[in-house]
Amino acid sequence: MALQLQLQPTVTNGVFQNPSAIRPFRNGKKVSFKAQATPTRTQRIMEGIAVSGEVGGAGGAYSYSALKRLDQLLSKICSASAVVEEPQKVVSSVPGSFKDSEHVGNSEEMFDVIVCGGTLGIFIATALSSKGLRVGVVEKNVLKGREQEWNISRKELLELVEVGVLTEDDIEEATAASFNPNRCGFEGKGDIWVQSILNLGVSPVKLVEIVKDRFDSLGGVTFEGYSVSNISVYQDAAVLQLKEGKTLFSCLIIDAMGNFSPIVKQIRCGRKPDGMCLVVGTCCRGFKENSTSDVIFSSATAKEVGQSLVQYFWEAFPAGSGPIDRTTYMFTYVDPQPGSPQLEELLEDYWDLMPKYQGVSFDDLEILRIIFGIFPTYRDSPLPAAFDRILQFGDASGIQSPVSFGGFGSLTRHLRRLTTGKCSSDFHL
Ligand SMILES: Cc1cc2nc3c(=O)[nH]c(=O)nc-3n(C[C@H](O)[C@H](O)[C@H](O)COP(=O)(O)OP(=O)(O)OC[C@H]3O[C@@H](n4cnc5c(N)ncnc54)[C@H](O)[C@@H]3O)c2cc1C
Repeated sequence: MALQLQLQPTVTNGVFQNPSAIRPFRNGKKVSFKAQATPTRTQRIMEGIAVSGEVGGAGGAYSYSALKRLDQLLSKICSASAVVEEPQKVVSSVPGSFKDSEHVGNSEEMFDVIVCGGTLGIFIATALSSKGLRVGVVEKNVLKGREQEWNISRKELLELVEVGVLTEDDIEEATAASFNPNRCGFEGKGDIWVQSILNLGVSPVKLVEIVKDRFDSLGGVTFEGYSVSNISVYQDAAVLQLKEGKTLFSCLIIDAMGNFSPIVKQIRCGRKPDGMCLVVGTCCRGFKENSTSDVIFSSATAKEVGQSLVQYFWEAFPAGSGPIDRTTYMFTYVDPQPGSPQLEELLEDYWDLMPKYQGVSFDDLEILRIIFGIFPTYRDSPLPAAFDRILQFGDASGIQSPVSFGGFGSLTRHLRRLTTGKCSSDFHL
C-alpha cells in the first residue's frame, strides 16, 4: 500500500510530477565551490558526480570524458578548414540487380525497411511496422532513451497517437512532469507568458522502452550493438554491411543516425556547418520556486567568450524526478570559426550565471546531472535525398526547431507525413 501511495503522481505548486516515469537518482552530490587553478571547476564538479546509464542518442552522455570528446569534435568543426574531415564513402551506387551480385541473403535478412539508428529511429520503425511492413532497426549501442527528459507539448505528442505509435495511456506513463505557464522573455522587452508550450517533461527511457516493446510485438527485428559499415544501392535493393560482419537487404534504408550520421557526412562532403548551437546545463535538486518554465529567456546582451561574441539564452523546466528538481539550459549560437568557445568554457560561465538567473546558490543545490550538446546547422536544410533507396530521418534530416533544439519535437510534426509517404511506395524484395 505504501508503495502504491508513493507512486501516485503528485501536484505541487501547479506542477505535476510522475515519479514512476523516471528513475530515482542515487548519485547526486552537493558541490561546494572553491577556486582552484587546476583541474577546472567544471572538471571537479563533473568528476564528483557518479554517472551511469549513458546512451548513444544526443544529450545521452553526462561524464567529463564525454564532454572532452565533444569539445574535441567542436574544435575540429571550428578549425579554419572548410572541411571538418574527409568523409568515408559509406554509400555506393551499383548498377544492376543485387541478385546478380556476390551478395546472397536468406529471408531472415530481407526487409522492406531498415532503420539505421534507434533513438528516434524506433518511432518511424514502429509506425511502418504497424502498416504491415517488415522492418529492422540497426543500433550501434543499446537501444535506450536518455535519462534527461525531453520537453515537448502534449499536442505534439498526440501526433504519435494518431500515427499509432503510442496510446494516450503511454503518454501518461512517460510524462514525468507537466507545468504552466511558460515564459518567453528578453531583457528590457518584458515577458510574454504562454500556456502549454514545451510544458511536458517526458522520459526518453520510458518512451523508447514503450515504443520498442510495441515494435517487438509487431514482429520488428532489432540489431543492437551493430554498427553500419557500408551500403551498396542496387537497382532493386540496398545491401547493408554491418561492421560486425552481418549483411542485410532492404528496399529502403532510413538513416536516423543523428547529426553526425556517417551517411550525412558523405552527402555534405564533410563540409563545416554554417552555424552551431551550443548548449550546457544541469538538472539540480533544491529549487524552492519551481512551478513555471522558461521556454526562452535572455537577460544579457552579447559578451566575449573565447575570441567570440556570444549571447546567452536560457531555458528552465521543472523536472519529473521531484518537486524541487529543475533543469536549466544555457545555450548560444556561434559561427564555427577558430576562437569559438568550447563547451567547457560555457560551463565555467554557467556556474556563475545560473545562480543569478534563477535566484539560487549552488551551495543549496544538489547537482543530479550535467547536460551538454552541440547542434550543427546548415543553410541547405532539410537535406534532400542524395541516393536512391536512402532517406534521412530525425536529426540526420536537418529538420530542426531552434526552440526544441532538434529532432524529437520535429519528429512528432513529420511522422505522419513520412509514414504515409513511405507506405504509398511499392515495397517488396
Ligand atoms: C542537451 C540537449 C537537450 C535537448 N532537449 C530536447 C528537448 O527538450 N526536446 C526535444 O524535442 N529535443 C531535445 N533535444 C534533441 C533530441 O535529443 C534529439 O533531437 C534527438 O535525440 C535526435 O534523435 P536522433 O535519433 O535523430 O539522433 P541521435 O539522438 O543523435 O541518435 C542517433 C542514434 O544513431 C545511433 N548511431 C550512430 N551511428 C550509428 C552507426 N554507424 N550505426 C548504427 N547506429 C548508429 C546512435 O547510437 C544513436 O542511438 C535535446 C538535445 C540535447 C543535446
